[in-house]
Amino acid sequence: MHIDILTLFPEYFNGPFSESIVRRALQKQLVQINLHNIRNYATNKHKTVDDYPFGGGAGMVMQIEPIDQCMDELKKQRTYDEIIYLSPDGDLFDQPMANLLSTKKNLLFLCGHYKGVDERVREHLITREISIGNYVLTGGETAATVVVDAIIRLIPGVLSDETSALSDSFQDNLISPPVYTRPANYKGWEVPEILMSGHQMKIDEWRHEQSLLRTRERRPDLLKDE
Ligand code: SAM
Repeated sequence: MHIDILTLFPEYFNGPFSESIVRRALQKQLVQINLHNIRNYATNKHKTVDDYPFGGGAGMVMQIEPIDQCMDELKKQRTYDEIIYLSPDGDLFDQPMANLLSTKKNLLFLCGHYKGVDERVREHLITREISIGNYVLTGGETAATVVVDAIIRLIPGVLSDETSALSDSFQDNLISPPVYTRPANYKGWEVPEILMSGHQMKIDEWRHEQSLLRTRERRPDLLKDE
Protein backbone atom coordinates (compact mmCIF):
# COMPACT_ATOMS: atom_id res chain seq x y z
CA MET A 1 0.00 0.00 0.00
CA HIS A 2 1.13 3.53 -0.73
CA ILE A 3 -0.07 6.39 1.48
CA ASP A 4 0.48 10.10 0.85
CA ILE A 5 -0.28 12.54 3.63
CA LEU A 6 -0.69 16.27 2.91
CA THR A 7 -0.04 18.36 5.99
CA LEU A 8 1.30 21.65 7.27
CA PHE A 9 3.09 19.79 10.07
CA PRO A 10 4.96 16.77 8.64
CA GLU A 11 7.11 16.43 11.75
CA TYR A 12 4.00 15.65 13.77
CA PHE A 13 4.15 12.10 12.39
CA ASN A 14 7.74 11.36 13.44
CA GLY A 15 6.73 9.74 16.73
CA PRO A 16 3.64 7.69 15.78
CA PHE A 17 5.16 6.30 12.59
CA SER A 18 8.49 5.34 14.09
CA GLU A 19 7.17 2.93 16.73
CA SER A 20 5.61 -0.50 17.01
CA ILE A 21 3.42 -1.99 14.27
CA VAL A 22 3.52 0.95 11.85
CA ARG A 23 7.29 1.04 12.03
CA ARG A 24 7.47 -2.69 11.36
CA ALA A 25 5.13 -2.37 8.37
CA LEU A 26 7.33 0.40 6.96
CA GLN A 27 10.50 -1.60 7.53
CA LYS A 28 9.01 -4.68 5.86
CA GLN A 29 7.97 -2.39 2.99
CA LEU A 30 4.39 -3.58 3.25
CA VAL A 31 3.41 0.06 3.27
CA GLN A 32 5.07 3.24 2.11
CA ILE A 33 4.10 6.56 3.68
CA ASN A 34 5.15 9.85 2.08
CA LEU A 35 4.60 13.12 3.90
CA HIS A 36 4.10 16.27 1.84
CA ASN A 37 4.35 19.75 3.30
CA ILE A 38 1.56 21.79 1.72
CA ARG A 39 3.58 24.93 2.38
CA ASN A 40 6.12 23.83 -0.25
CA TYR A 41 3.40 24.34 -2.86
CA ALA A 42 2.58 27.94 -1.89
CA THR A 43 3.42 30.22 -4.79
CA ASN A 44 3.43 33.57 -2.97
CA LYS A 45 6.55 35.27 -1.62
CA HIS A 46 5.80 34.61 2.05
CA LYS A 47 4.75 30.97 1.46
CA THR A 48 1.40 31.55 3.16
CA VAL A 49 -1.16 28.77 2.84
CA ASP A 50 -4.10 30.30 4.70
CA ASP A 51 -6.14 33.47 4.52
CA TYR A 52 -9.04 35.29 6.20
CA PRO A 53 -12.51 33.84 5.55
CA PHE A 54 -14.68 35.63 3.01
CA GLY A 55 -17.58 37.20 4.88
CA GLY A 56 -15.46 37.73 8.00
CA GLY A 57 -15.37 35.82 11.27
CA ALA A 58 -12.74 34.27 13.48
CA GLY A 59 -9.98 31.94 12.30
CA MET A 60 -8.07 31.36 9.10
CA VAL A 61 -8.97 29.11 6.17
CA MET A 62 -6.55 26.87 4.26
CA GLN A 63 -6.36 28.02 0.67
CA ILE A 64 -7.21 25.76 -2.27
CA GLU A 65 -4.27 26.58 -4.54
CA PRO A 66 -1.34 24.94 -2.69
CA ILE A 67 -3.49 21.88 -1.90
CA ASP A 68 -4.56 21.56 -5.55
CA GLN A 69 -0.97 22.02 -6.77
CA CYS A 70 0.31 19.37 -4.40
CA MET A 71 -2.43 16.90 -5.37
CA ASP A 72 -1.87 17.58 -9.08
CA GLU A 73 1.78 16.71 -8.70
CA LEU A 74 0.98 13.48 -6.87
CA LYS A 75 -1.81 12.46 -9.25
CA LYS A 76 0.76 12.47 -12.06
CA GLN A 77 2.58 9.69 -10.21
CA ARG A 78 -0.30 7.39 -9.25
CA THR A 79 -4.05 6.88 -9.37
CA TYR A 80 -5.67 7.13 -5.96
CA ASP A 81 -8.36 4.77 -4.74
CA GLU A 82 -9.46 7.45 -2.30
CA ILE A 83 -8.54 11.07 -1.61
CA ILE A 84 -9.57 11.54 2.01
CA TYR A 85 -10.14 14.72 3.98
CA LEU A 86 -10.11 14.30 7.75
CA SER A 87 -13.01 16.36 9.05
CA PRO A 88 -15.20 16.41 12.18
CA ASP A 89 -18.31 16.34 9.97
CA GLY A 90 -17.13 13.39 7.83
CA ASP A 91 -18.36 9.78 8.00
CA LEU A 92 -17.62 8.34 11.41
CA PHE A 93 -14.57 6.06 11.20
CA ASP A 94 -15.20 2.47 12.28
CA GLN A 95 -13.80 -1.04 11.83
CA PRO A 96 -15.71 -1.86 8.61
CA MET A 97 -14.29 1.33 7.07
CA ALA A 98 -10.78 0.38 8.25
CA ASN A 99 -11.26 -3.10 6.74
CA LEU A 100 -12.36 -1.60 3.43
CA LEU A 101 -9.53 0.94 3.23
CA SER A 102 -6.94 -1.70 4.11
CA THR A 103 -7.69 -3.42 0.78
CA LYS A 104 -6.79 -0.30 -1.25
CA LYS A 105 -3.54 0.32 -3.07
CA ASN A 106 -3.10 4.10 -3.07
CA LEU A 107 -4.57 6.42 -0.46
CA LEU A 108 -4.13 10.15 -0.02
CA PHE A 109 -4.98 11.91 3.25
CA LEU A 110 -5.44 15.66 3.56
CA CYS A 111 -5.03 17.11 7.06
CA GLY A 112 -6.84 20.35 7.74
CA HIS A 113 -5.88 23.03 10.25
CA TYR A 114 -7.24 26.36 11.51
CA LYS A 115 -10.94 26.67 10.51
CA GLY A 116 -10.43 23.93 7.92
CA VAL A 117 -9.97 23.98 4.13
CA ASP A 118 -11.69 26.16 1.52
CA GLU A 119 -14.98 24.38 0.78
CA ARG A 120 -14.05 24.05 -2.92
CA VAL A 121 -11.33 21.56 -1.92
CA ARG A 122 -14.04 19.36 -0.45
CA GLU A 123 -16.38 19.84 -3.41
CA HIS A 124 -13.87 19.19 -6.19
CA LEU A 125 -10.77 17.38 -4.94
CA ILE A 126 -11.91 14.94 -2.24
CA THR A 127 -13.53 11.51 -2.69
CA ARG A 128 -14.22 10.69 0.98
CA GLU A 129 -14.43 12.56 4.30
CA ILE A 130 -13.68 10.83 7.58
CA SER A 131 -14.27 11.90 11.17
CA ILE A 132 -12.69 10.04 14.07
CA GLY A 133 -15.31 11.24 16.54
CA ASN A 134 -17.75 13.93 17.53
CA TYR A 135 -15.24 16.41 18.86
CA VAL A 136 -12.94 18.98 17.29
CA LEU A 137 -9.19 18.41 17.14
CA THR A 138 -6.62 21.08 16.40
CA GLY A 139 -5.57 19.44 13.16
CA GLY A 140 -6.22 16.48 10.87
CA GLU A 141 -2.79 15.02 11.72
CA THR A 142 -4.11 13.33 14.87
CA ALA A 143 -7.05 11.87 12.94
CA ALA A 144 -4.83 10.72 10.05
CA THR A 145 -2.56 8.94 12.54
CA VAL A 146 -5.55 7.05 13.98
CA VAL A 147 -6.96 6.06 10.59
CA VAL A 148 -3.58 5.06 9.12
CA ASP A 149 -2.75 2.96 12.19
CA ALA A 150 -6.09 1.12 12.08
CA ILE A 151 -5.64 0.40 8.37
CA ILE A 152 -2.02 -0.69 8.44
CA ARG A 153 -2.45 -3.35 11.12
CA LEU A 154 -4.93 -5.09 8.81
CA ILE A 155 -2.56 -5.41 5.85
CA PRO A 156 -1.55 -9.08 5.45
CA GLY A 157 1.93 -9.69 6.86
CA VAL A 158 1.98 -6.68 9.19
CA LEU A 159 0.92 -8.49 12.38
CA SER A 160 3.05 -11.51 13.18
CA ASP A 161 -0.12 -13.56 13.77
CA GLU A 162 -2.61 -12.59 11.09
CA THR A 163 -5.56 -14.05 12.99
CA SER A 164 -4.95 -11.53 15.78
CA ALA A 165 -6.62 -8.62 14.00
CA LEU A 166 -9.65 -10.78 13.24
CA SER A 167 -10.26 -11.45 16.94
CA ASP A 168 -10.03 -7.76 17.89
CA SER A 169 -13.05 -5.81 19.08
CA PHE A 170 -15.58 -4.64 16.45
CA GLN A 171 -14.77 -7.40 13.96
CA ASP A 172 -18.14 -9.25 13.69
CA ASN A 173 -19.72 -6.41 15.69
CA LEU A 174 -18.45 -7.93 18.94
CA ILE A 175 -16.21 -6.68 21.73
CA SER A 176 -13.07 -8.72 22.39
CA PRO A 177 -13.21 -11.29 25.26
CA PRO A 178 -10.98 -10.67 28.31
CA VAL A 179 -7.34 -11.77 28.02
CA TYR A 180 -4.95 -12.97 30.74
CA THR A 181 -1.31 -13.97 31.02
CA ARG A 182 1.10 -15.30 33.67
CA PRO A 183 0.95 -15.45 36.67
CA ALA A 184 -2.24 -17.52 36.91
CA ASN A 185 -2.75 -16.25 40.45
CA TYR A 186 -1.77 -12.73 41.44
CA LYS A 187 -2.62 -11.62 44.98
CA GLY A 188 -5.43 -14.21 44.95
CA TRP A 189 -6.90 -12.79 41.70
CA GLU A 190 -7.24 -15.87 39.57
CA VAL A 191 -7.42 -16.50 35.86
CA PRO A 192 -10.61 -18.37 34.74
CA GLU A 193 -9.82 -22.07 34.94
CA ILE A 194 -11.18 -22.86 31.50
CA LEU A 195 -8.30 -20.91 29.89
CA MET A 196 -5.79 -23.32 31.41
CA SER A 197 -7.76 -26.48 30.61
CA GLY A 198 -6.02 -27.02 27.27
CA HIS A 199 -9.45 -27.82 25.74
CA GLN A 200 -9.40 -25.50 22.73
CA MET A 201 -13.02 -26.00 21.66
CA LYS A 202 -14.29 -25.18 25.16
CA ILE A 203 -11.95 -22.17 25.36
CA ASP A 204 -13.26 -20.86 22.02
CA GLU A 205 -16.85 -21.31 23.23
CA TRP A 206 -16.07 -19.49 26.48
CA ARG A 207 -14.44 -16.63 24.59
CA HIS A 208 -17.40 -16.28 22.27
CA GLU A 209 -19.82 -16.23 25.25
CA GLN A 210 -17.68 -13.59 26.95
CA SER A 211 -17.66 -11.51 23.78
CA LEU A 212 -21.43 -11.64 23.57
CA LEU A 213 -21.82 -10.86 27.27
CA ARG A 214 -19.47 -7.88 27.09
CA THR A 215 -21.08 -6.55 23.96
CA ARG A 216 -24.54 -6.80 25.53
CA GLU A 217 -23.29 -5.05 28.68
CA ARG A 218 -21.01 -2.40 27.21
CA ARG A 219 -22.02 -1.82 23.61
CA PRO A 220 -25.59 -3.10 23.03
CA ASP A 221 -25.76 -0.72 20.07
CA LEU A 222 -23.42 -3.07 18.16
CA LEU A 223 -25.92 -5.94 18.40
CA LYS A 224 -28.83 -3.95 17.03
CA ASP A 225 -28.02 -4.87 13.41
CA GLU A 226 -27.73 -8.61 14.21
N1 SAM B 1 -14.02 24.57 11.89
C1 SAM B 1 -14.04 23.15 11.80
C2 SAM B 1 -15.41 22.65 12.25
O1 SAM B 1 -15.99 23.25 13.15
O2 SAM B 1 -15.85 21.62 11.71
C3 SAM B 1 -12.98 22.52 12.67
C4 SAM B 1 -11.60 22.75 12.19
S1 SAM B 1 -10.41 21.89 13.17
C5 SAM B 1 -9.92 23.10 14.33
C6 SAM B 1 -9.01 21.79 12.12
C7 SAM B 1 -8.86 20.50 11.37
O3 SAM B 1 -8.73 19.41 12.25
C8 SAM B 1 -9.98 20.12 10.43
O4 SAM B 1 -9.88 20.78 9.22
C9 SAM B 1 -9.80 18.62 10.29
O5 SAM B 1 -8.85 18.29 9.28
C10 SAM B 1 -9.22 18.23 11.64
N2 SAM B 1 -10.19 17.63 12.57
C11 SAM B 1 -10.68 18.20 13.68
N3 SAM B 1 -11.51 17.38 14.32
C12 SAM B 1 -11.55 16.23 13.62
C13 SAM B 1 -12.24 15.00 13.78
N4 SAM B 1 -13.07 14.78 14.81
N5 SAM B 1 -12.04 14.03 12.87
C14 SAM B 1 -11.22 14.23 11.82
N6 SAM B 1 -10.54 15.39 11.61
C15 SAM B 1 -10.71 16.37 12.49
